[in-house]
Amino acid sequence: MARIGKDNDALRRLDLAGRPVAVRFRRNRRARRLIVRVDPGIDGLSVTLPPGAGQGEGLDLIRRRQSWVLGCLDAVAPRVPFAAGAHVPFLGHDHLIRHEQGRGVPVLRALNIITVTGRVEHLARRLNDWFRQQARDEITPRIGRKAAVLGPTGRRAGRVSIRDTRSRWGSYSVNGGFSFSWRLVLAPEFVLDYVVAHEVAHMKVMNHGAEFWAVVAGLTDDVQGARDWLKLHGDAIHRYG
Ligand SMILES: [Zn+2]
Repeated sequence: MARIGKDNDALRRLDLAGRPVAVRFRRNRRARRLIVRVDPGIDGLSVTLPPGAGQGEGLDLIRRRQSWVLGCLDAVAPRVPFAAGAHVPFLGHDHLIRHEQGRGVPVLRALNIITVTGRVEHLARRLNDWFRQQARDEITPRIGRKAAVLGPTGRRAGRVSIRDTRSRWGSYSVNGGFSFSWRLVLAPEFVLDYVVAHEVAHMKVMNHGAEFWAVVAGLTDDVQGARDWLKLHGDAIHRYG
């Protein structure tokens, strides 16, 4: 890894768990150690290099503390209200929100564009209703399919509520009711699928022991990947709307 000149501020882009992060290196003769900070000005990180340390050491430190770094970046990330021109993920894919005057289908998604029709003051509420409905449409059939894979458990799959819960992505209660965060429809499909699998698995095993995780693994493709994704990006999907 090349060292940078002592008078240079070098800006680089780094891929952290699939997220592009800007990193600015600053050399400081008086610094005693490498320091990594969130730099809101570049929506990324600033790394202070003490004498003798190169960019490579800075990058190593960032990668070693990846989940901490991503958590800090999410904490300072700006909120994204539902408004024309905003970018919002849908099943993990970036979508542009467009507004259109007039009557017609209230919300239409095509080619990474979500068009909301009607009066602009109703846009945020319409989009919110639409995301909740999309979440329901994605989640409900998955519950049915996964419950069928489980076979008879003595517990039933009852009603599904879609909520805006901050503390949990989903829940299952012994009376058969499921509850899910609508925000799961912002996450990639394998993440939503895992959360549904997790709650359906509770129809068979109520605790989180080894038997439970074996059941979950039989109901979805990438348990560890989904759990890691939620740990890294769970906070970020609470920024929308
Ligand atoms: Zn659980």
